[in-house]
Amino acid sequence: MGIFAYEDKKRTKKISTNEASELNRSKYYFCLNPYCDAELKVTSVDGEQKIHFRGGSKTGTRKEHIDNC
Ligand SMILES: [Zn+2]
Repeated sequence: MGIFAYEDKKRTKKISTNEASELNRSKYYFCLNPYCDAELKVTSVDGEQKIHFRGGSKTGTRKEHIDNC
């Protein structure tokens, strides 16, 4: 899980969870790894964890991280 991601697919605008949390939680963000096409969403698990960017089926994103990312 990460606290930073890119707001745009071209990876020009980095955004933190603090900033992203004020935006629409259904919006997709993009992985910091330039080789990884994962789409991330802002999420917190049952409110017990700090919000973070997460990809994969549990958050309903369309693309997961590549291996070792
Ligand atoms: Zn990734």
